[in-house]
Amino acid sequence: MTVEDTLRELVAIDSVSSRSNAEIISYVEARCKISGFEVRRFPHIDEHGVEKINLVAQASVRDSDVAGSQTAVGAAIELALVGHTDTVPYDAGWTDALNLTRRDGKLFGRGACDTKAFIAAALTAVENIELQKLKKRFALVFTADEEIGCLGAKRLAAAKAFAARYAIIGEPTSLQPMRAGKGYCVAEITVHGREAHSAYPQFGASAIFRAARLIEGIEAIAADLERDQRAGFDPPYTTINIGMINGGTAKNIVPGACRFTLEWRAIPEQKTDYLLELVENAITKLKHDDLDFLCDISANRADDSFETPADSPLVQFLEQTTNKLSGTVAFGTEAPSMIALGAETVVFGPGDIRVAHRTDEFVPVGELEQCVNILRQAIERFCA
Ligand SMILES: [Zn+2]
Repeated sequence: MTVEDTLRELVAIDSVSSRSNAEIISYVEARCKISGFEVRRFPHIDEHGVEKINLVAQASVRDSDVAGSQTAVGAAIELALVGHTDTVPYDAGWTDALNLTRRDGKLFGRGACDTKAFIAAALTAVENIELQKLKKRFALVFTADEEIGCLGAKRLAAAKAFAARYAIIGEPTSLQPMRAGKGYCVAEITVHGREAHSAYPQFGASAIFRAARLIEGIEAIAADLERDQRAGFDPPYTTINIGMINGGTAKNIVPGACRFTLEWRAIPEQKTDYLLELVENAITKLKHDDLDFLCDISANRADDSFETPADSPLVQFLEQTTNKLSGTVAFGTEAPSMIALGAETVVFGPGDIRVAHRTDEFVPVGELEQCVNILRQAIERFCA
């Protein structure tokens, strides 16, 4: 079966994050079993009552073949190839979203680029390898719910599902190895006030005026953070966005509450909650002039940044094989979860992230085929 045929079958299975990924997991599970993998399912029911499954497929290695290992059970996986099975939703007008279409050397379809191309390449790469001859542990890992917060990978990390030494996470990077990425954090901030008739504002306290002062403080923090820079990132500092704000009930009511969403992307070596400490300091200052200033902060998401050293054997191997220097990614990935499982991690795959998540996303056929070769060489380099 060609890599294109495999991609066609993967794209035909609707695996939008809101649905169960059981069908696509069954598909990759069957493929892995045919190739001789031992598979392990990690199922759970998500917050909407939908079944989600992570799957770990491991090439079996006989105990005696594992160098330096007394017991093979629980031994670390040398190399894991990780691909998320879910996709973002597609527009109803994109009638061919689940029907892989080839045009001008490109393959179009939902997930064709992000990240079923990588999964197809990995499934094809292992078909050209005699798995039973591998000397070190090799695994394919298929995750759920990456597009809604890397939830599947986080569950694997929390469950300590396995330990790994090296991991390649499939994401569209145009086959450039990405060895570092910013963190991704979100907090909801609710500033409280006291409602009053707007004709008599002295009896109330405007939550919106208070929020405005706090937001001004956060803008100053953002400017300060620009001085702490990490080379290789664009831009090279932690960025902040307040993307949504909502407050008040009517034009003639002094507003009693104002909520806004604070999002930040932290550079490596900066703790995910560092920004919140700075925000707390800003709040303390505001309280100095406004004793009743009151707000709640609820930190909803705190994904770590990641950085794998440039001299990691995996980074070096991928740089040499692709003839491309490693770079950094600006989007959230499952890398922190794989690092939590012990792996030196690189994000890598065919297709361009700039065409992902949109109607007519595609992967260039040439990159897809090249990826098969590179993954096969990676398995041989690290596990043979
Ligand atoms: Zn993705």
